[in-house]
Amino acid sequence: MAELIAKNPAEPEYHQAVHEVVESLDHFLSEHPKYKHARILERIVEPERIIIFRVPWVDDKGMMRVNRGYRIEMNSAIGPYKGGLRFHPTVNMGILKFLAFEQVFKNSLTTLPMGGGKGGSDFDPKGKSDNEVMHFCQSFMTELHRHIGANTDIPAGDIGVGGREIGYLFGQYKRIANEFTGVLTGKGLNWGGSLIRPEATGYGNVYFAQEMLKTRGEDIKGKTVLVSGSGNVAQFTVEKVNQLGGKVLTLSDSSGYIYDPDGIDNEKLKYVMYLKNNKRGRIKEYADKYGVKYEEGKRPWAEKAQIALPSATQNEINKEEAQLLVSNGCICVSEGANMPSTPEAIEVFLDKGILYGPGKAANAGGVAVSGLEMTQNSMRLNWTAEEVDKRLHLIMQSIHATCCKYGRKSDDYVNYVDGANIGGFVKVADAMMAQGAV
Ligand code: NDP
Repeated sequence: MAELIAKNPAEPEYHQAVHEVVESLDHFLSEHPKYKHARILERIVEPERIIIFRVPWVDDKGMMRVNRGYRIEMNSAIGPYKGGLRFHPTVNMGILKFLAFEQVFKNSLTTLPMGGGKGGSDFDPKGKSDNEVMHFCQSFMTELHRHIGANTDIPAGDIGVGGREIGYLFGQYKRIANEFTGVLTGKGLNWGGSLIRPEATGYGNVYFAQEMLKTRGEDIKGKTVLVSGSGNVAQFTVEKVNQLGGKVLTLSDSSGYIYDPDGIDNEKLKYVMYLKNNKRGRIKEYADKYGVKYEEGKRPWAEKAQIALPSATQNEINKEEAQLLVSNGCICVSEGANMPSTPEAIEVFLDKGILYGPGKAANAGGVAVSGLEMTQNSMRLNWTAEEVDKRLHLIMQSIHATCCKYGRKSDDYVNYVDGANIGGFVKVADAMMAQGAV
């Protein structure tokens, strides 16, 4: 860790993500010295390639603007680089390296042949017109296109990159490369996208929570649920919880959270989707419309519920919030977002022995269906929604089984953090060993 921190200074999120994996692997590596001899850990923390580039664009007033673009090509041992693009003003090298690193393990867990990558920009789509977003995306892709390809590196969406942005990015790629290919996932349905891709991360996380609950004879039906965020992952998390008979009490954005004691039913969810995806407004407007509580500048974790599904961003649950969740009767935390719990919060969940599903296992449904989108693109045919959803469900069950295999302790408690880290590591490490000094 000391070496890593010295080599990658001022990247606390990256240090945090690596530290968690190193802790999980400590014992396992002592039992399997071949990985130590091959210096797999030292190699796996070193990105295969990093691309940083200038993204100039002109706003609606004719003013020149400039942002920074990145693509981290982390590991291609088991397949081409695969991982989302994030457009958010907080984006920097450390955050993208943490996301790319987690992606390597997550993609390995899905059972599909995908390496790990991540990218994005400090561009803030909030408050920008469609025209400005398009100009930015076109400029971003004008540089990125030379580094990606259907068999090389296949980006997708993440925070700030949804269907609109993927459309503009794909259009520019096609224009420059002169080929119609599966170079991005999350595409529109009539131009190469897969059914269930928008739903996949949220649905997958709920399937994962369901598997964890099953191990204790519990079910989502009748349970109260806290969800944070109100973007892609949060929206389809609510949809699936509703389908399974649970009640979602909260949603949030970076300004605050709403609390609806009657639950966010499908009708209200439709409004949230309109508010966030079309009107691009703030979650406070939900509180105004339905006359419920809105807490400005706060996160929802002090509310009482049995399940928490964080679906906004990294480090959004700290130690005190974790303690509050548990003391308020929360029995299951399953992460739709990447690394939403701080290390101290995770310690609370594990100490108290509640069901805790880390993002790299619980939210792998998104990239899994991206993998299925790639398969359909290669075959040039489309599966039905039922077919894709069935495969997604099976993949989430398989990830759960892998976590249990590698994470079950002597007292029968499943530490899903260890399970996901070791389970994800083995496949990539074995591939790296087989491929020699790569
Ligand atoms: P969206 O951009 O659709 O939504 C993000 C949501 O989180 C918004 O409500 C946003 O609020 C909120 N948010 C973003 N940054 C912050 C912040 N710093 N503090 C508080 N709230 C914040 O993104 P997604 O739903 O796609 O992604 C959510 C999480 O899920 C991320 O951690 C992402 O990495 C992870 N994830 C996404 C996958 C996918 O398929 N999309 C796959 C796997 C993981 P506001 O509008 O105010 O910014």
